[in-house]
Amino acid sequence: MLDYFGLNDHVVLKKKHACGGNEWVIVRVGCDIKIKCVQCNRIIMLDRQDFLKSAKKLIKTEHEKE
Ligand SMILES: [Zn+2]
Repeated sequence: MLDYFGLNDHVVLKKKHACGGNEWVIVRVGCDIKIKCVQCNRIIMLDRQDFLKSAKKLIKTEHEKE
């Protein structure tokens, strides 16, 4: 369901981060995905598979209209 995502999109993960936040910003997309915790700014890297598995909800940013 999260087959389309891009840089700067926000994503909510099923599992909470150590800081208590569960919303992340996508900062790099490749075969690995880097996401940054909105609450504590920590960056973690997940492989695509793990990312897709742990992502619960995608919050698209509005940068690719038109
Ligand atoms: Zn955090």
